[in-house]
Amino acid sequence: MKFHILTLFPEMFAGPLSTSIIGRGVESGLLGFELYNIRDYALDRHRTVDDAPYGGGAGMVMKVEPLTACLEEATRNAPGARVLLASPRGTPLTQKMAAELATEREIVVVCGRYEGIDERVRELFSAVEFSIGDYVLTGGELAAMVLVDAVGRLVPGVLGSSESAEDESFSAGLLEYPHYTRPPEFRGLKVPEVLLSGNHKEIARWRRTQALLKTSRIRPSLLETADLTGEDLRVLQELEQGGAR
Ligand code: SAM
Repeated sequence: MKFHILTLFPEMFAGPLSTSIIGRGVESGLLGFELYNIRDYALDRHRTVDDAPYGGGAGMVMKVEPLTACLEEATRNAPGARVLLASPRGTPLTQKMAAELATEREIVVVCGRYEGIDERVRELFSAVEFSIGDYVLTGGELAAMVLVDAVGRLVPGVLGSSESAEDESFSAGLLEYPHYTRPPEFRGLKVPEVLLSGNHKEIARWRRTQALLKTSRIRPSLLETADLTGEDLRVLQELEQGGAR
């Protein structure tokens, strides 16, 4: 899968794109990146990419002409690819959306700066805005990196066999259960007995209960759409009554 990323700061991407799992994906050819410096598409000799907003107000707006020229090149290189704009106003990025995007061959991601992008860019390229959370960043680069990481790791083959995405938080609609590794006791804190028992059925049951417990405490709204069994509903009822740990 190839990501085409439009930014005023391409140098920001060097670390994330060459490190750990995403770096390995690039090395193995499963992931590819093309970075476009929007400033290279400015029309004047000062390489201007921003201007004051119509209607007044604070800050600057990313100009439509350089971004359009840059997007035209990116979409020529990636015909038919979806165009995504990083924006706090966008659809919240979820695991489901990441999994859908991971099935695409190429995607184009635009990183905003200043007060944002001239609205006509979104209209011209039928772009979809995505947000990585209800807070405002200084620019879309970190949001693009989050998207690349969340999507890239779901591209088949990018995660090693020991790094399955199946059981993780959100994949099954719930937050994940807690993890432990050696030693079995640290500063008086013991690993739950069941995890040392070797009884895989009991371990699976404990993990499911813990996932339900964490989700109901931290993100109860996830339970409304999670795929729950009759046994899950019984456990949740018990949790509500304060019975289970
Ligand atoms: N004036 C904008 C607003 O109030 O919605 C915020 C602009 S922000 C300072 C500059 C750029 O950072 C945005 O154009 C966008 O690309 C990016 N950005 C900021 N917060 C983001 C978020 N939560 N998710 C995705 N992108 C974000």
